[in-house]
Order: sequence, then structure tokens, then C-alpha cells
Amino acid sequence: MGFSKSAPRKRAMITETPLVIEPLTDINPVLAQYSWNQVLAGATRDVESLLNQVDIPISELNQRQQACLDFPLLVPQPFIDKMEKGNPNDPLLLQVLPQSAELESVEGFINDPLAEKHSNLQKGLIHKYHGRVLVLLSTGCAVNCRYCFRRHFPYQENRIGKNDWQAILDYVAEDTSIEELILSGGDPLMLSDQQLERFITQAEAIPHLERLRIHTRLPVVIPQRITNKFVDILHSSRFDCAIVLHINHSNELDPLLTKGLTKLKMAGISLLNQAVLLRGINDSVESQIRLSKSLFKAGILPYYLHVLDKVSGAHHFDIDATEAKRIHKQLLLKLSGYLVPKLVREEPGKGSKTPVL
Ligand code: SF4
Repeated sequence: MGFSKSAPRKRAMITETPLVIEPLTDINPVLAQYSWNQVLAGATRDVESLLNQVDIPISELNQRQQACLDFPLLVPQPFIDKMEKGNPNDPLLLQVLPQSAELESVEGFINDPLAEKHSNLQKGLIHKYHGRVLVLLSTGCAVNCRYCFRRHFPYQENRIGKNDWQAILDYVAEDTSIEELILSGGDPLMLSDQQLERFITQAEAIPHLERLRIHTRLPVVIPQRITNKFVDILHSSRFDCAIVLHINHSNELDPLLTKGLTKLKMAGISLLNQAVLLRGINDSVESQIRLSKSLFKAGILPYYLHVLDKVSGAHHFDIDATEAKRIHKQLLLKLSGYLVPKLVREEPGKGSKTPVL
């Protein structure tokens, strides 16, 4: 290894430059007493229980349970709390509820739609694009989104330990063209703050790294994941930091999440959002306008709107490209430019995302 383990920190610690950080209070009072890990441990993993909690009659139980064998159900309580009770078409429920359609095999929908196995150069590392690498620090998520393009990803083969961290950092240290680390997953915020801090500190010692990007959905489903310690880690890092959230519908934003995001904004972290265009969930101009406006109000810039990656088991979420373009054109006509996300698709082997024009 050609770099030292302790790099200079760029910004003052939060404790030295105090930010106004209030305790999180707008929360389900029962959940308020638990840490994010405890909320995660109590997440719902059972179809019947989920349907009961949202007052929806049990139907297609066998098929739904069969779909769970391939990709388990996982949804934490704060996300369930945001669903409308008694509404089988609730846009949040539909993102996590297993459907019988997942069992259908449809031409064109495959297990590895982005051919990531070719870029999965070593355990926990995907190098697809120039100048940045994706590090899969965690192989799990706090929620299982039924449309996820990594629902069949070989996470078991990519489960990494501390020795693998070193191998990843060695790879990055050797390639001086890499300026940006992207922590993805699974969800990188599944790691504890202490683990994240250790990894980031080691990465900071690589001189040619300038930026750190964290892709996460965890705070959306468990807002108390934005701990003061986490904010402090990013605030005091020498990296220019960005967090790319994954929010598909305006109902996913709530006051508690917004409060956590405000802390990140105050700490100088850029906040962006990527969404996936999903049939029956956010495939209308009105829904997209509401999402963009709500994101901006919460301090997040709409960044990408992805058309669905054609992963097997998710064909029922797919939207025809012509329809996607129609919706996007309306956004361009009705919103200020900075509120319109780029409509993109990811194509295997391409050096960047492909704009859908
Ligand atoms: S949080 Fe992201 S990576 Fe995890 S299941 Fe959902 S879409 Fe996939």
C-alpha cells in the first residue's frame, strides 16, 4: 500500500463548528424510543402481516409467498406508517408487496439486465464508468423493492469483510484515474456509523480521491438512520460528499426525514434524488410534478428518472419508452429546469447512463 492510513480532515468537526441539531421528535411515539437498528430488526417480513397492518384483505397468499422465496419481503414500520390504510393501490405498498406477476417469465426480462457480472472485477467492487467505482459495502437493504434491478445479484459472492476492504482500497489506490467513490449496495447505510467512519477514513488517505457519493434508500424507510454521528462523519470528511436518495413518490417524504435531510444540508452535503418510473406508482405527470416539488422543498434536487431495468420478476412495473418520454416532456413544459430530472436508462457496456430522448 502506498498511502498512509490517516489523512487530513478538510472541515472542522461539527462539535467544533456547532450546527443546530435538534432531537428527532416528529415520529411515531412508539418508534421514537428505538434506534434505527432496532427498527430494522422489527421490520415486517411476512405478507399476511403486511396486509393486515394496512387493512387489505388477504389475497393470492400462495403466489405472494412463492415470490418471496426468490426475493423476500422486507419493509420497516416507518415506511408502512406512510401507507394509506385500506388502499390496495397505495403507491408505497405496491413497491414492496410481492405480486403473482413476479412468477411470470417474460421475454426480455433477465436476472442481470445490466450485465454487472462483467464489471464486478473483485468482491464488492464494480468498475463500469471512467473516474468512479462502485463499492458494495453492504449486501443487504432495509427494504426490498420489488422492481430492484439487483434482486438477483449474487450478493453472497460479494459479501465483504475487512480484508476485502483493503483489496478494494488497493485497487482504487492503484488507478489514479478514479476520483470518486460511490458507496452502493445493498444499502451502504446498513453499516454502523463506526464502520462507515473507518472505511471513509481509510479511503481519505488515497490522494487522488476527491469525492464520495452515497446511494441510499435507508433514511426514506427509517428516517432515524440520519444520526448526528453520521452527519458528523460526512461533515468532517475531506471529501466533497453527495448523497443520492432513492425516492419514487412524494408520499415517501415526511417531516422526520426532512428534518434529518436538513441536518445534512447544513453540514454541506449535496442531496440528489434518483427515482424509477414505475407503472401504477408514479407514472403520471401529476405524480412526477408533486415528487419534484416535494423533493426541492426537502432540499433535494431531482437528478435522475430511470426507466425500469428489465429484471426478471418486475415486468409489471415497466412503462413503454414512448409513454416515459411523453411524461418527461410534460415535466419540461410545466416545471423550472432544475426541477426536471434527467430521463435515463442504463445499458450494459455503455460508458455512462443513456438519455432517453
Ligand atoms: S433499496 Fe435500492 S438496492 Fe435495495 S432493494 Fe431497494 S432498490 Fe434495490
